[in-house]
Amino acid sequence: MKKTPKGPPPARTPKTHRNPKSANPSATKPVPKAKGTDPVRVSAILAGLDDAYPAASCALTHKNAFQLLISTILSAQCTDERVNQVTPALFKQYPMPHDFAVADPNDMEAAIRPTGFFRNKTKSILGASRKIIDDFGGKVPRTMEEMLSLPGVARKTANVVLGTAFGIPSGVVVDTHVQRLSHRLDLSRQNDPKKIEQDLIAVIPRERWILFSHQLIWHGRKVCQARRPKCIECNLEKICYAEDKTFSSWPAARPRKVTIAR
Ligand code: SF4
Repeated sequence: MKKTPKGPPPARTPKTHRNPKSANPSATKPVPKAKGTDPVRVSAILAGLDDAYPAASCALTHKNAFQLLISTILSAQCTDERVNQVTPALFKQYPMPHDFAVADPNDMEAAIRPTGFFRNKTKSILGASRKIIDDFGGKVPRTMEEMLSLPGVARKTANVVLGTAFGIPSGVVVDTHVQRLSHRLDLSRQNDPKKIEQDLIAVIPRERWILFSHQLIWHGRKVCQARRPKCIECNLEKICYAEDKTFSSWPAARPRKVTIAR
């Protein structure tokens, strides 16, 4: 017969329970590849955008790269129109990067309040301005890596500033419009903006990245709107097979889901 050892029982190693029902199946599920990236189709999309928006540019009012940086930070979760209403007084109150860097946070919050999320935006603006003064001689940097070192600046803001202010094609701006249109035009099926950008830069020629970003944003604002796209007015309609189209001139025999506008 075995002797029972004296002393406290050994600590039990906790069992790790794996509940297959609680696992998120989409976490590991690969995102299907977009099917609309045939070069001929992509060329047709670019040609349609050129016809509709030949000189598309950034809608944020600015006089230099620094002002554009500030405006782009302010445009997060806010319309460009609203930002443009706020910035004239803001840039009068704080004319130079140094003025932003030493600004009183309470005053800055009051000045940018109408753009929403004003506390976080104030932190980003003051932090970015200080870094530009301390590390970049008061000038907005011109590389993606340096731009991303600024507080509150991610790829979208960096691409806007590098592309619009300096003409540097660092990538494609993926905002809410570009995200939506990339899906509708089946250029990407990803949901993460970084992955959408990777899909887009793989199929859009580099020399088109800057203009393409502006064109897609304008198309999203004017025609391919989120709730009710104006497909009947869209010059890409014949090559678009988005499921939430509101009008289709495609032959009825083509198997697609289309909601007809009433
Ligand atoms: S056809 Fe409709 S859904 Fe497709 S891109 Fe044009 S507006 Fe958007």
